[in-house]
Amino acid sequence: MNNNFKQKFCSRCLYSSDHPLGIIINKNGLCSGCTIHEEKNSLDWEFRLEKLKKLVNDYKLKNSNKYDCIVPITGANDSYFILYVVKHILGLNPLLVNYNKYFNTPLGVHNLANLRITFDCDILVQNINPISVKKITRTTLREFGSVYWPILAGHTVFPVQIAVKKRIPLIIWGAHQGLEQVGMFSHKHEVEMSRRYRKDHDLLGFEADDLLSVYDFLNEEDIWQYRYPDDFDINNVGVRGIYLGNFIRWDPKAQHEKMISLFNYKTTKFNRTFDCYDHVDCYNYMDIHDLLKLYKNGYSKVTDHACREIRFNRISKSEGLFLVQKFENAKLKYLDLFCNWLGIEQSSLNFILNECRNEKFWIRKDYNEWEFNGLSLNQKKYKKSSTFHESFISTKNNKIKEPKNKYITIGKGWP
Ligand SMILES: [Zn+2]
Repeated sequence: MNNNFKQKFCSRCLYSSDHPLGIIINKNGLCSGCTIHEEKNSLDWEFRLEKLKKLVNDYKLKNSNKYDCIVPITGANDSYFILYVVKHILGLNPLLVNYNKYFNTPLGVHNLANLRITFDCDILVQNINPISVKKITRTTLREFGSVYWPILAGHTVFPVQIAVKKRIPLIIWGAHQGLEQVGMFSHKHEVEMSRRYRKDHDLLGFEADDLLSVYDFLNEEDIWQYRYPDDFDINNVGVRGIYLGNFIRWDPKAQHEKMISLFNYKTTKFNRTFDCYDHVDCYNYMDIHDLLKLYKNGYSKVTDHACREIRFNRISKSEGLFLVQKFENAKLKYLDLFCNWLGIEQSSLNFILNECRNEKFWIRKDYNEWEFNGLSLNQKKYKKSSTFHESFISTKNNKIKEPKNKYITIGKGWP
């Protein structure tokens, strides 16, 4: 164990004070994420659901013959559950919007097609021209180690653009990441979507125009589609984005399992985590994107999943640590696909990836040799569990075929 940096660890979950979203450890040793999580067991959720119903009712009345709201969706994550709440519990007529991330898996294409049919909704899909997407991806990968900037930017801006353009003021999101992971807000704050949070956390501090001014490799025609509408237009329409997680006790595992049984949501096993439900629509989220997270932050998505499950008391801390250490250094599966798509040699990509290693978490042994010194190795010693009861369901069967050497950039229907 190397202790060349001091950080405090939460006494319950696996996060430390080093979390990129910011975490506070209180005098009892509990982190802000775990503290806010406790609210899930103490708030009056029936009362909060009634509050949500009242809130959306105003929008129902105003738009009786049009769309009541916008729901951003993908072929994974919480999309099915969000839509289930919006249609079946709140009785709204949503316009669905989807930003095509291009790294689509057959499973994601299936989930999106099935969602469209099952919930009987209109859907707008935004396909940004692939040349610009690749140019931006190359830039953000090289400059701040992110292959996901265009996806996060597109997914968070397209719904706002459509809200302004079609004058549909209400946007409905699932849970707020800052609340769920690090307890940045209380559920009672009922925090709403903001341009500031998007820039600081989703976009690593860079809005579209910031890329333009800093990196002369990019032009106006590459970035204009990612530009956030201006405040005047947003206020003129009265656009607001609410999070269902403030009104409904958010539990992704339970919700996904309900969606699997009710609506045939498809799931799969991953190389780098035990959760089979999130990000099944993308080749890169749990692959190169997850590796970059480990390089930069000293932990990866499996730590997020383990912390969540520890907080719900479904696994112990030592089981969580076992899972993290089992998965966090697992090999990538889809690097070839990414190199093909971006038009880059694997050796060049490896060079860029290595440049992203944070020396706080990686000790350089030789030119091309690094020793991991991430969060999981700096935890206090626990009586380590060596087993884990698999309780996540993988529904994937062989009927859904993997493509040979490229992404399904535009998936029209059922592969
Ligand atoms: Zn904690």
